[in-house]
Amino acid sequence: MNLFEMAKIPLNRAQELLGVSDIAASYLQQPERVLEVSIPVLMESGKVQLFRGYRSQHCTALGPAKGGIRFHPSVTVDEVKTLSFWMTFKCAVMDLPLGGGKGGVTCDPTQLTNKELERLARGYIAKIAPIIGEDRDIPAPDVNTNPKIMGWMMDEYSKWNGFLCPGVLTGKPKTIGGSAGRGSATGRGVSFTVREALKKMNIKPADATVAVQGFGNVGSFSAKLIHDLGCRVVALSDVNGAIYNSQGLNPYDVEKFVKENKTLVGYPGSQPISNAELLELPVTVLVPAALEMQITAENADRVKARLIAEGANGPLSADADNILDAKGVMVIPDILANAGGVTVSYFEWVQNRYRYYWGEKEVNSKLEEKMVAAFNEIFDLAQKYHCTLRVAAYICALERLVMGMELRGWLS
Ligand code: GLU
Repeated sequence: MNLFEMAKIPLNRAQELLGVSDIAASYLQQPERVLEVSIPVLMESGKVQLFRGYRSQHCTALGPAKGGIRFHPSVTVDEVKTLSFWMTFKCAVMDLPLGGGKGGVTCDPTQLTNKELERLARGYIAKIAPIIGEDRDIPAPDVNTNPKIMGWMMDEYSKWNGFLCPGVLTGKPKTIGGSAGRGSATGRGVSFTVREALKKMNIKPADATVAVQGFGNVGSFSAKLIHDLGCRVVALSDVNGAIYNSQGLNPYDVEKFVKENKTLVGYPGSQPISNAELLELPVTVLVPAALEMQITAENADRVKARLIAEGANGPLSADADNILDAKGVMVIPDILANAGGVTVSYFEWVQNRYRYYWGEKEVNSKLEEKMVAAFNEIFDLAQKYHCTLRVAAYICALERLVMGMELRGWLS
């Protein structure tokens, strides 16, 4: 089964539970539009190299498409379609007036110089410019893209228009229209959902141990902010390996070490373990914040965490979901757990349109209010329908999407 088909399993379950009409269901089975582009880049060698890029707009029933751009060697059209599908439901879960989109370029950014990366970023945005815009589709960062790249992309799009267009992209540097609090937003959202879930489980943060897989934007902020809740972070990892200390690691200190050493492996006082071992540690909370399909039928049975918060998109396979549910593990699904990023992206887009900017305190408290409301709504739906939090999140999103379609006259 490919990734996109697997991603639809909880949606299909939610459709059955809600009794959604076939026509409403069929709008969500495929993206509305998928664009594939070739991007020529002049390399430092003097030769031109051709890269392949994609942009998928999954559903715009509730608003313009919204979602990040990924630069990674494993990017495929199937992956981008799936990621755009998840964005539709993520935005609907958070009650944002936005639809689902996602983009990607198949490339290995670690092999590109800064100039090559800039040419690729500008080339990609020029190729997808006809289908994006602040009322059409608003990209943002994702794996291996960051505010610097968003700045180049926004500039390239603005050149097309002849004036500065901050609202075409979110996750920009603050000086050119980025929002306060966007950098930490996804990890902050993860920490709010972990805090709320621990409350429901009657576990005090001080009694909870935590392992975080991945130390990029999502993993590092999740680790720091979960540490700030008072939990003991005992394991962390990056692409090079994982580190463990049963007494606890200070993620702020680990971050300083990573700045100097480019990896967390070798952090003083920690024991090196493998990424696979990290996923199977006897911890209270596990936060997979790297890539898709990390916990599958192969290793799910060995996972010992009581709570999993999906910092990444799609880190659990459908089989893993069933196995963990049978074991009584609470899973906060990606479309809720990591929705803090797109929520503050929405705030950024609103501020860009207003040309009026909020302080970080205001952004963080608006984010907290939305995350806590969404968590509780989904928790209550899971009780009502006797289903997992993932299926409940799809039910919550689906109700809004079908209502939007109905009111726009798409269904009759
Ligand atoms: N790439 C992030 C996600 O998967 C953020 C998307 C956005 O801010 O639009 O949710």
